[in-house]
Formats: sequence, C-alpha cells, structure tokens
Amino acid sequence: MKKQDIQAIQELLSTPKKIAIIPHRSPDGDAMGSTLGLYHFLLKYNHQAIVVSPNEFPDFLAWMPGSETVKIFEKDKKNCTKILEEAELIFTLDFNALHRVGEMENVLNKLSAPFIMIDHHQSPDSYAAYTYSDTSFGSTCEMLYNFISSLGKRATIDKTIATCIYTGILTDSGSFRFPKTTGTTHRIIADLIDLGVENTEIPTLLYDNSSYERLQLLGRALQNMKVMPEHKTAYITLTQAELDSFNYIKGDTEGIVNYGLSIKGIVFTAIFIENAEEKIIKISFRSQGNFDVNLFAREHFNGGGHRNAAGGKSDISMEETIRKFENLVSKLII
Ligand code: 5GP
Ligand code: MN
Repeated sequence: MKKQDIQAIQELLSTPKKIAIIPHRSPDGDAMGSTLGLYHFLLKYNHQAIVVSPNEFPDFLAWMPGSETVKIFEKDKKNCTKILEEAELIFTLDFNALHRVGEMENVLNKLSAPFIMIDHHQSPDSYAAYTYSDTSFGSTCEMLYNFISSLGKRATIDKTIATCIYTGILTDSGSFRFPKTTGTTHRIIADLIDLGVENTEIPTLLYDNSSYERLQLLGRALQNMKVMPEHKTAYITLTQAELDSFNYIKGDTEGIVNYGLSIKGIVFTAIFIENAEEKIIKISFRSQGNFDVNLFAREHFNGGGHRNAAGGKSDISMEETIRKFENLVSKLII
C-alpha cells in the first residue's frame, strides 16, 4: 500500500468512527475472516465497527468469534441500509467490484463516505478512496495482517484477531497447498500460532463438521461427475431437486468442486449448482497450473476470480449450460 494512503488511513482511524465492514455475497472463510478480524481490530480503538454481509454466511463459519454480531442485509434491509448510510468509513474486503454484493450495491452506490478496499482479486474497480489490491496474495486475510502491521499496530493482534486471520489464510490457501502460499505466509501463520491460535481445532471446526446428509450429497455429486479426459477436464452437476433431497443447507457444497482435480491428469474442473430461487446455475471453476479459470469465467459465464479458482453464473437451464460448457471445453487445448 502507498505510504501516503497509509498515512491518510492512520489519520482517518485516529478518532473513533462509525465504520461498516463488508464482505462479498455468500462470504467464504477469507471474507468472514478478514471482515471479523478487522472488526475486532477496530473495536480496540473504540470505533463503532459493524460487519454487514450481503446475505447469510455458511453454518460452518458460525463458530467464528463475532459472527453473532454480523448483520445480514437480505434479512434486514431497513436496518442495514441505515447502518450503511450512517457509516463514516466503509471497508470492502475480499472483492473487487461492487456488483459482488448483489442487491446491496444500490445502497453502496449512493454513499458518500470514503471506501477502503483490501482485496486479492484481479482487475479491481476504482470505487475506493484507498485501494490495497494485490493479486500476489493467496488471501485477503494475509493482506489484513500486512495492513494492520503497516498501520504500526501489529502488537494489537490478539488471539481473537489472529483466529480470524488464520481461518481466512487456511481456507483460501486450500490448507496451505495453493501456489500463492509462500514462506512469508507460513511465517505469518507461525506468528498467529504463537499468539494462541488453536491450529488443530480450527480445521476440525471447519472441515469435520458435516452432517450425514452432506456426505450423502457429496456421494451424489461424485457419482454425477463427468470426465472429459482428452481435455483434462472433469465437472459435477447438482440440481435443486438433488439438493432438496439431501436437505441441503448453505455451505454443504463448499469444496466439492476440488474433487475433480484429485483425478490423475485432470487440471480443469467445475461444479454447476442449480439455485431455483435465484433462477441461476451457480458455477465454480478450479484449475491446476496455467489454465486461467478467471479468464474462462469472465469470458463465458459472467464471473471472475483468480487464475486457479473462479466462479460465475448461467441463467439458461442446466442442460443448456452443460451443453455450452462441453462445447467450450471441446475446443480447449489444455
Ligand atoms: P467459489 O468458486 O469458491 O465460489 O469462488 C472462487 C473464487 O472466484 C473466489 O475468489 C470468488 O470470490 C470468485 N468468484 C466466485 N463467483 C464469482 C462471480 O460470480 N463473479 C466473480 N467476479 N468472481 C467470483
Ligand atoms: Mn479471498
């Protein structure tokens, strides 16, 4: 981050303020970790901070410290709009464009308070007065650690803040496996563990927390998997009827997309999940190596993300979406 931006932000934070902190829609571990980490940090300096999430966060993140204070815009639009309108400063974390908050974008567009963006996605929009955007980072949480450190406040990171930051680094790095995991990432992790983070308990809370039905749903997803070996591609579909039959709750499909990559020789994988309420097929893409799923999602499925992990959507039927996908893949040389 630029030195003059740091100074300006230090100045902004030098007196207590009403501050709204916003993750992207359907927040993941990194979005929740970074917003809650920043929330606990700002409370220490007597700010009236509050996290306003565009919609509900998944159940497997409900244990996170402070999650019970998070306001959900889609559940309480009136109150959340008031909070946003009264905020003197707005942080947007883990996303690069205001449309990533869904309907809440209309409210954000009308605000006059300055925005601060901290994010690691490609091609950030220019809505923020201060933009800390760097795609070399594997997570926004790692950037938050740097952000707090560059404000000269590293010493205020306590176990609670560290727990939030740890969670985002862990989840966005695929448990420290993805390519952007560096020596520095591990040094930060070491520091967080020294601060008391329960580094064996957190993965248990996140990953050993499934219902029986979730595992059955996973079984169905794996049976639905189609492989296109000549294009090194595998994909999974889940219809709304299938989700319903396993009593799907938000978060149940998290991580399923990655199974495609566990097949030998497969470097591109996708999962197509029908959402009847929103009348869309929500898509996640993952790749290993050079194939750029961010570009693929942007060009063909109205989405984006990172080179090896991206998402998008389709508003045609599942069958038509799959036909389109297979057609695109059949022309790919991976
Ligand atoms: P996931 O597949 O886990 O939902 O998302 C993978 C990555 O792609 C995340 O960094 C996420 O923020 C991004 N992403 C997911 N869906 C979309 C989308 O519809 N549009 C854009 N621009 N990015 C997305
Ligand atoms: Mn992230």
